[in-house]
Amino acid sequence: MRALLVEDEAKLARLVARGLTEHGHVADVVGSGEEALAVVADGAYDVVLLDVRLPGMDGFETCRRLRTARVWTPVVMLTARTAVADRIAGLDAGADDYVAKPFAFDELLARMRAVARRGEVPRPTVLTVGDLRLDPASRRAWRAHQEVTLSAREFALLEAFMRRPGRALTRDELLEHAWGWDSDVASNVVDVYVRYLREKIDRPYGRHSIETVRGTGYRITADRATSEDGQTQAVADGDG
Ligand code: CA
Repeated sequence: MRALLVEDEAKLARLVARGLTEHGHVADVVGSGEEALAVVADGAYDVVLLDVRLPGMDGFETCRRLRTARVWTPVVMLTARTAVADRIAGLDAGADDYVAKPFAFDELLARMRAVARRGEVPRPTVLTVGDLRLDPASRRAWRAHQEVTLSAREFALLEAFMRRPGRALTRDELLEHAWGWDSDVASNVVDVYVRYLREKIDRPYGRHSIETVRGTGYRITADRATSEDGQTQAVADGDG
C-alpha cells in the first residue's frame, strides 16, 4: 500500500520509510502537518502515519483538518507510549488507530493493514444532519450555531437517530440504543423523549427533523420544514 509518513524527526522517518519499502509498500515522507494537508487531499494514499509532536500544527490539529475537509484516508497516529491523553485526543480528532513510540515494526504494519481494510469510508467525528450537529466526544449538540442543552438520555437518543439519518427506527431499536436492552422501561418512554427532543432541536427553530413513521417509530432527516424553493411545507406529523 501507499503510505504518507508525517514525521519531523528525520532519522526516525528514514528508518520507518525504509522498513515500509522493504515490506513492499510505498512511503512518502513529509515533516509537517501543513505539508501533509497539501499532499494528502489527492486521495492517493491508503494510510497516513501521523506523528503527534510536529513543528507548527500538531498531529491532532492536522487530523482534525483532514476530517473537516472530508478527507477520509485512514490515519494511524504515532503517540508517546506513556501519554494516554494523546491517544484519546488522537482518536477523538478522527484518527482510526495509534501506535505508541517506540513501536514494534510488525505491529505498525498490522495496524496499517487493519485501518486500510476500512478504506475511505466517511466517519466524521461530529455527526451532522442538516444544520444539526452532535459531537460524541465533547457531548455537545448544536442547531445551526446555537448550542442545545440536552440531558444524558436526550443526547443518547439524538445520537441514535443521527448515526442513522433517514432510516426509520422502531421504538425497540431506539430503546436498545439509548436505554440498553436490559432496561425495564416501557417503549412509550421513547415517545416521551422524542417529544422532549423536538421541543429542543426542532420547534424553537421551526423545524420538523424528527419525523413520525406510522406503524414503525421515528426517523431523522435533514430538514422537513423547508422545501428546495424555500417554501415551508405542511408536514403531517403522526402524533403531532
Ligand atoms: Ca515529532
